Amino acid sequence: MAKLKVYVTRMICDNGIKMLKDQGYDVKINPLDRILTKKELLKNVKGIDALLCLLTDKIDAEVMDAAGKNLKIVANFAVGFDNLDLEAAKIRGIMATNTPQGSTEAVAEHAMGLLLASARRIVEADKFTRANKYKGWKPFLFIGEDIHDKTLGIIGLGRIGFAVAARALCFGLKIVYHDVVRNPEFEAKFGGKFLETSELLKQSDFVTLHVPLMPSTRHLIGKKELALMKKSAYLINTSRGAVIDEKALVAALKKKQIAGAAIDVYEFEPKLSPGLTKLNNIILTPHIASATIETRMKMSEIAAQNIIETLGGKVPAHSLHK
Ligand code: NAD
Repeated sequence: MAKLKVYVTRMICDNGIKMLKDQGYDVKINPLDRILTKKELLKNVKGIDALLCLLTDKIDAEVMDAAGKNLKIVANFAVGFDNLDLEAAKIRGIMATNTPQGSTEAVAEHAMGLLLASARRIVEADKFTRANKYKGWKPFLFIGEDIHDKTLGIIGLGRIGFAVAARALCFGLKIVYHDVVRNPEFEAKFGGKFLETSELLKQSDFVTLHVPLMPSTRHLIGKKELALMKKSAYLINTSRGAVIDEKALVAALKKKQIAGAAIDVYEFEPKLSPGLTKLNNIILTPHIASATIETRMKMSEIAAQNIIETLGGKVPAHSLHK
């Protein structure tokens, strides 16, 4: 019997690759350390049974049709799946999966890191010290702000939002949250208060975003919402870039409408909106919130397991089809 074919669009941790090879699959991996062009992707997927892809690959009907009738699963190596055309997959009877849980803790840790770095001006202070500008202790040198007793507003209280809340409590932050689904268990256990988004923005000293990118969350934070925030507040985004209207964010930071922002994701990734890098009241990281070796290994294992279950005739644990 011919071997089942799996195509992997970029090298990932080899624990997942080994799992696939151990099943006897014919596993091919893009040998280039870069995103494939659409043309390359269309060529490489021909005749495959399973596709393991990254959030940087746009998997639409054209890619699925180029793969052909054997394609049974598109396994995304990410929690977010705004790069997949789920409807096109469903119509064609193709399974689609993601890697939830794999990166929850790492992203929450990064969000807290951005929050701490913002309030205590860690990035600015590092640059200053490196440039040999430190000439002695001063009472107001890089004066920052306390974190304890401040209010953290969490928008999107799913896996990552919840993990951020758990960490924030240890730092003495009070928590308010907004989600489309209210969570009474969270309110009872964490003392988190549910607020409508506008009220959350008005009351929070730090706002952190943890919603998926969908039509309803695109530009969830724009000019109007930024205007509601306190002048002393910081905005943290580790979700998806387009959840914030980046042009409006640049304008708000320019006129110091809010104290600062720290973002890991960009509306036009990997391009940065004009003016973003000129601002000194923003911290920028290059979409690395889940980039820890332990997390990448978990993601590799979960994506491989999704493929093994699907090719084995089972419904995988992380099916995205409702
Ligand atoms: P999740 O599905 O567990 O949680 C998302 C939450 O957002 C849900 O509770 C949902 O009800 C809520 N929500 C949806 N629409 C909303 C709205 N309009 N207003 C308020 N809440 C809304 O997902 P998760 O595992 O917590 O991940 C969240 C997102 O983080 C992912 O979709 C992904 O895009 C992003 N992410 C980024 C990185 C990174 O490297 N920066 C890594 C992993 C995940």
